[in-house]
Amino acid sequence: MDFWFSPQEDNFRQEVRSFFDEERRNGAYQPANYTFMESYSPRLTRRLVDKGWVGLAWPQEYGGAGRSFVDQLIFTEEVMMAGAPVGCHWLAERQVGPAIIASGTPQQKQTFLPPILKGELTLCMCLAEPEAGSDLACLQTQAREVDGNFVVNGQKTLIMGADKAHYAFVLVRTGAADSRHKGLSALLVDLKSPGITIRPLFSASGGRSFNDVFFDNVKIPLENLLGEKNGGWMIATQQLSLDRSSIELVAICERVLHDLVVEYIGGVREGLVGDMVVRHRLAEIAIEIEVARWLSYRVAWMQSRGVIPENETSMAKVFGSELTQRLANEGMRMLGLLGQLCEGSKLAPVRGWLENWYISTLGRTIGSGTSEIQRNIMAQRGLGMPR
Ligand SMILES: Cc1cc2nc3c(=O)[nH]c(=O)nc-3n(C[C@H](O)[C@H](O)[C@H](O)COP(=O)(O)OP(=O)(O)OC[C@H]3O[C@@H](n4cnc5c(N)ncnc54)[C@H](O)[C@@H]3O)c2cc1C
Repeated sequence: MDFWFSPQEDNFRQEVRSFFDEERRNGAYQPANYTFMESYSPRLTRRLVDKGWVGLAWPQEYGGAGRSFVDQLIFTEEVMMAGAPVGCHWLAERQVGPAIIASGTPQQKQTFLPPILKGELTLCMCLAEPEAGSDLACLQTQAREVDGNFVVNGQKTLIMGADKAHYAFVLVRTGAADSRHKGLSALLVDLKSPGITIRPLFSASGGRSFNDVFFDNVKIPLENLLGEKNGGWMIATQQLSLDRSSIELVAICERVLHDLVVEYIGGVREGLVGDMVVRHRLAEIAIEIEVARWLSYRVAWMQSRGVIPENETSMAKVFGSELTQRLANEGMRMLGLLGQLCEGSKLAPVRGWLENWYISTLGRTIGSGTSEIQRNIMAQRGLGMPR
């Protein structure tokens, strides 16, 4: 692995950093809190579109900038460090867009890619069901072909952003009930279609992050099938897992550590400066952030060279997500009882952002594949152990 960024990559990082600094100074946005993946500023997104930074790693023939995964990683890292509210658009740009480029029909490319690139079309990912999470191949939501449509029935659960998205990538069963992964297809579904009900699920921190999505005889045109019929598993497992460096977890940890050291200890609790236990714990976290960063960089570096990372993505995800929990614990321990105060409270240290983040980090080791499943993948693909 090349441990250095090229001069062009360093320049790009500087350009992105300066852009967000200036936008913030001009009042274009206020840095969002630590749980801002779903936050979205249409105005800021339009500015990114103008800069050519949406679709950064898409091929130029599809309107992208044709840049490398390393550039995309640098961009993501800087966005997260800046607390810029552009998260909601990412599923469309980073996951579904590339899947449409790889497997979509000419018509689908024409319909979906331009609005994604303009930041005007958002998508959510409807995969998990009440009885199918880690073992996605047993999902039950069914799509039958009737008179030129798929008729979809079933329920998806824990779907992030379904209440805000325009379309959904939905994995459905088009094969026999016992066909497992061989009978799954991917559909692009307009969430305004009659028969769809989106019901909020309120998270432990009180926010509406997730939704149940119910499909009751929903008619989806056959042309909205992405890829081959019964070929959805490959799309869900391979194409959607591009851009899985987990760098966003690392950058958030970096931001939290910075706020704890500079804002809290430096500004409010100077007494902690000399506390050896606190010093050592924070130093330990700083080491772990650096390790997590290199694991993420390795994934992007491999992708930039056309190598498909396998257990490397799992390693970066497990380490990064578990690190968010260790840092959240450490931060809460430092803040003591005041750490329980929420955003908006006058006395809350670090603007009350840690309280909410602490709760949200619990989900980090579950969403996008649990730590147990990631460790199974590492044991199998990395260590060569049997499934
Ligand atoms: C923050 C967050 C965001 C999410 N966003 C979305 C989204 O946008 N779209 C979407 O479709 N879904 C989403 N999900 C759902 C997520 O994909 C599932 O929660 C996840 O796959 C786990 O499935 P499950 O909840 O059914 O748990 P289960 O699969 O029932 O697992 C329960 C426990 O058993 C363990 N386990 C299961 N199988 C094995 C095994 N073979 N070996 C060892 N241990 C095992 C798991 O690790 C876990 O600890 C999200 C979840 C979270 C928490």
